[in-house]
Amino acid sequence: MPKSKTSKSLPAEKNITETSPAKTKNLKKELLKNFGFKNFKEPQETIISSLLAGTDTFVIMPTGGGKSLCYQLPAIVSDGCAIIVSPLIALMKNQVDLVRSYSSIDNIAHFLNSTLNKGQQKIVKDDLIAGNTKLLYVAPETLTKEENVEFFKDLNISFFAVDEAHCISEWGHDFRPEYRRLREIMDQINEKLPVIALTATATPKVQSDIVKNLGLRNPKIFISSFNRPNLYYEVVPKVKKELAIKSIVKFISHNKGKSGIIYTLNRKTTEELAEMLVANGIKAVAYHAGLDAKLRARRQDQFLGEEIQVIVATIAFGMGIDKPDVRFVIHYNIPKSIENYYQETGRAGRDGLEGKCLLYYSHKDVSKLEHLMRDKSLTEREIGAQLINETVAYSESGVCRRKILLNYFGETNVADNCGGKCDNCKNPKELIDAKSEAIIALKAIKTLEERFPITYMIPVIMGKLNPQIKMYRHEEKDIFGSGKNKDEHFWNSLIRQMILENLLQKDIEDYGVLKITKEGESFLKKPTSFKVALNHIYETDGDEDEEGADVAEGVATDNQLFELLKDLRQAEAKKRNLPPFVIFLENSLIDMATLYPTTLKELEKCQGVSVGKALKFGKPFVTFIEKYVEENNIEKPEEFVMKSVVNKNNNKVFIIQNVDKKMPLETIAKNRTLKLDELLEEMETIVASGTKLNLDYAIEDLVEEDEIDEIMDYFKGCTTSSLEVAKEELSDGNYSMEQLKIVRIKFLCEYGN
Ligand code: ADP
Ligand code: MG
Ligand code: ZN
Repeated sequence: MPKSKTSKSLPAEKNITETSPAKTKNLKKELLKNFGFKNFKEPQETIISSLLAGTDTFVIMPTGGGKSLCYQLPAIVSDGCAIIVSPLIALMKNQVDLVRSYSSIDNIAHFLNSTLNKGQQKIVKDDLIAGNTKLLYVAPETLTKEENVEFFKDLNISFFAVDEAHCISEWGHDFRPEYRRLREIMDQINEKLPVIALTATATPKVQSDIVKNLGLRNPKIFISSFNRPNLYYEVVPKVKKELAIKSIVKFISHNKGKSGIIYTLNRKTTEELAEMLVANGIKAVAYHAGLDAKLRARRQDQFLGEEIQVIVATIAFGMGIDKPDVRFVIHYNIPKSIENYYQETGRAGRDGLEGKCLLYYSHKDVSKLEHLMRDKSLTEREIGAQLINETVAYSESGVCRRKILLNYFGETNVADNCGGKCDNCKNPKELIDAKSEAIIALKAIKTLEERFPITYMIPVIMGKLNPQIKMYRHEEKDIFGSGKNKDEHFWNSLIRQMILENLLQKDIEDYGVLKITKEGESFLKKPTSFKVALNHIYETDGDEDEEGADVAEGVATDNQLFELLKDLRQAEAKKRNLPPFVIFLENSLIDMATLYPTTLKELEKCQGVSVGKALKFGKPFVTFIEKYVEENNIEKPEEFVMKSVVNKNNNKVFIIQNVDKKMPLETIAKNRTLKLDELLEEMETIVASGTKLNLDYAIEDLVEEDEIDEIMDYFKGCTTSSLEVAKEELSDGNYSMEQLKIVRIKFLCEYGN
């Protein structure tokens, strides 16, 4: 594997050119005059002085720190107009409006981007030529346009500001190729002008990319700490979709009236989740790039205006959104990188008050994320895989979450325990001494000349031969298998913590190759104790199913109760001389055994239970459940999550409408991407809850008339709800399941309610 230079965090600049007291006073006066703020936030003032002294300046400050002011104020007090490159066209207008709102001169700020027509562009350019404008916001595409470059060459420009500068790096979370041309263009316009770059992105790799690609010349660099002491971090295992949603509903219900954001991986999930929350009485909407701009803007406003409590979004939401009192950020799927996670959770608690950050973690989501990258180029995939790897490590770690986050951003002196502000510190894991194992790891890495990443080193240490190891003939080394008495889980935990404790360093530029640090070397010479907390083990999530085909088989279903309810149904059916499925469908019983309804109102929330049906058959069931709940000390779920309410509801309307139009069942099924038996299942639920479906047109194609009569007669007297049994008992099993099912739907329509 090739070696390349490691980039560690850049040194923060300490010797700032002293500004004279008079100038300082002036800046404060200007601050009050132009923005109405009495004081600067730390370290705005030194940053502004640096820029005004003509120095290239690099500002790394978390979201909400007050970066904009660092170029807005200098722009106002300088001669000429500042050019501010900003990636988000949607936010440019807001920024300009904000600056204008402070000023008495309207044309003090303008923006130039593709949303302006020729006439509007002319107005802006005239203002620029007249020298009225102090701040011009441009999209990178606009700046790089030939005609604009020519125009800017003749203009009196004070400096360049590059906001969201991380967009220049592939290692950042919003790579924008046009940012790569900025240096070249700035040189063409006027190479002497100072540049201020700003970002909330802190990884050392991204930082060095910015300095390099923007060609910053001896920049003064200001790095603020990224610790957000008011945020609480927790990782929740996501074993089942159902349970995850339930726990989210519960969490939100316990946070009544508090604003929150839920991030998901794709659009479909945002829609599903939002509807699920709405079904549970939570004001929520989806937000993603597939919605048109107007609707998105409206939803954003509704969220800001608190008409909506929760926004369920893909990552498209939130960049630049300034809602100070977001009280929770939930990740329903694993984020693409630690960087993304930090930025997204960073939207909680911007006012310095409470902010809870929950991450629902499952291995399946990791695979999904990897799958999403399959069409990307090899480099992108490699970068992506490494970034995902870090998030996995974060999620599984038993170490303080805050420590891992800050460490990722290059902060090394972080306390081991954040005082209960993360799940791992709140419920600390038992520590084990792993001094001898740490030595084994260091020796192994040394023997292989610090040329391999963690994924290669672990099998070597454990003595597990694979083709790659064979190729390098590392099984011949004496360190091969030197740690075979511990498992992979252990080694993973240990090596990750050795990185955190700075005994090892991972070269991200070089495939994550592990290097031994100075501290690591001295540990080897004079070993001290080394305590590790083992990673969490998350169960594999067998049938968590995003497609929702059989979500009804929830793990939360109380099987014992389900069996008892089946018996009860049997008894009730007998008493009334009705087939059991006419009383309640299997799906309804599953819901009962999951939700424990003890009133008829609650019973109605179960699939396939209409008001009429609840009234007619419900009483003995809720009475039974009530007794069961009491006897077994069961804590009833407070919220009634209607399973896959979204699909079902959407499907339901579609099915009813199209059966009315006599659309062939195959077509209906295809339209809703259902299999025929799934469609029939849905139809049965619809009919069971009291809606009539006239399926005669479809039955005729499937079953002969006399056969229909035979099956109908059978159902009248049958005592089973099992179609398999029915199949056997009827004409020696000659009917297909589809035939039986569709006739049973007809039967339910005619005799069911
Ligand atoms: P960033 O770009 O770093 O995320 P912004 O520039 O949007 O942050 O500023 C965040 C908030 O802080 C804004 O509401 C801004 O008005 C406010 N702010 C900035 N500087 C000051 C200051 N000196 N005093 C008070 N509020 C400030
Ligand atoms: Mg900003
Ligand atoms: Zn902690």
